[in-house]
Amino acid sequence: AKAFLAAMEKARPLNAYVLETPEQALAMAAQSDERLARGEARPLEGIALGVKDLYATKGVRTTASSKILANFVPGYESTVTSQLWRDGAVMLGKLNNDEFAMGSSNETSAFGPVQSPWRREGSNAALVPGGSSGGSSAAVAARLCLGATATDTGGSIRQPAAFTGTVGIKPTYGRCSRWGIVAFASSLDQAGPIARTVRDNAILLRSMAGHDPKDTTSADLPVPDYEAAIGRSVKGMRIGIPKEYRLAGMPAEIEALWDKGAKWLRDAGAEIVEVSLPHTKYALPAYYIVAPAEASSNLARYDGVRYGLREPGRDIVEMYEKTRAAGFGAEVRRRVMIGTYVLSAGYYDAYYVRAQKIRTLIKRDFENVYAQGVHAILTPATPSAAFGIGEKGGEDPVEMYLNDIFTVTVNMAGLPGIAVPAGRSSEGLPLGLQLIGRAFDEETLFSLSEVIE
Ligand code: GLN
Repeated sequence: AKAFLAAMEKARPLNAYVLETPEQALAMAAQSDERLARGEARPLEGIALGVKDLYATKGVRTTASSKILANFVPGYESTVTSQLWRDGAVMLGKLNNDEFAMGSSNETSAFGPVQSPWRREGSNAALVPGGSSGGSSAAVAARLCLGATATDTGGSIRQPAAFTGTVGIKPTYGRCSRWGIVAFASSLDQAGPIARTVRDNAILLRSMAGHDPKDTTSADLPVPDYEAAIGRSVKGMRIGIPKEYRLAGMPAEIEALWDKGAKWLRDAGAEIVEVSLPHTKYALPAYYIVAPAEASSNLARYDGVRYGLREPGRDIVEMYEKTRAAGFGAEVRRRVMIGTYVLSAGYYDAYYVRAQKIRTLIKRDFENVYAQGVHAILTPATPSAAFGIGEKGGEDPVEMYLNDIFTVTVNMAGLPGIAVPAGRSSEGLPLGLQLIGRAFDEETLFSLSEVIE
């Protein structure tokens, strides 16, 4: 813990942590030492972790990287983090993220952008670590923790992992409790880890997962020993390559990476088959209706009365308006407006209902493929390597949204997906592949990921 705290201090220019918690870290580490001395080690004894600032931590400021929660100190602990501490892990601090997890580059954070520790060959320009879990991916890549919690609503675990050469899994919807995690789009949000290796992901997920009566969408299923799935043979497994993911204009190096991944799996005895997910092209537009719709509803609670910021007004309506105008950043305001619009009486059927229908079709696409005996699907994790801070999405937010093209379908279908580092771009940056699994079959993803890693 001391070594990490020292490294964090030196790495402050990366802006990965929004709050360092040395007191907690040292106290928890001391308890770990005591348990170790008594021979009572727990599964994550002394493992130093960073926590995305979307997870409520009891007595420790939790902001979702938003001004509106700048002074919010929860009186409760999220289920997922409490399970990590129960298993002996040590909290180093809270990690930066896009405001309310809305973004793909960590540039919407009220605390400012996070720098990836990576650089393009021959350049010193600062790159994004991906988003929204950019603090988590940067901290893991820069060795500022052994692992980090993250959340994934449309790719926010997998895309930052791919951008930083780390591993991140979004488990099946319902695998981890969402209780005590700041809500963005509740039907899509899932908790998961980012860590350096597939094995570290497996170990962390086992502690994070499990049924929680406090989250009605949490699945009442036993949590397997994910680590035991690593090293299991993948011989005879059928791996689908969805033809609709071969986008026109996809960079040759992404295509080559994908082919290489398929070859590695074939060499390990898996069978590679072409599959079709015909509604793929509707996933991104439908996601950017469903996610803002749910966000506009979830964010209604930030009204200046119950949480954080309050800007005084002459009456309550003016107080609401001023508080929300001052507390929310531009991207969050955009989402609230889009969401309110698609949910409004006149447009509900044309947008929201239609997006929900598309969601059903997307789900069915996957069910059809899995019914053909396919165990998992292999795709690129992102359409490009990491880009520079300030390089994308300035004038046109859709340019940024396109980053999520390979990841959002998985959330729409509620399936598990993992991003695994698989190569380097021509500029020397990490590139990742994504494996998508059957519902609640994260084990197969771990077995396959180890082949790619
Ligand atoms: N980039 C996507 C968005 O901005 C996904 C974010 C996430 O997974 N939290 O909505």
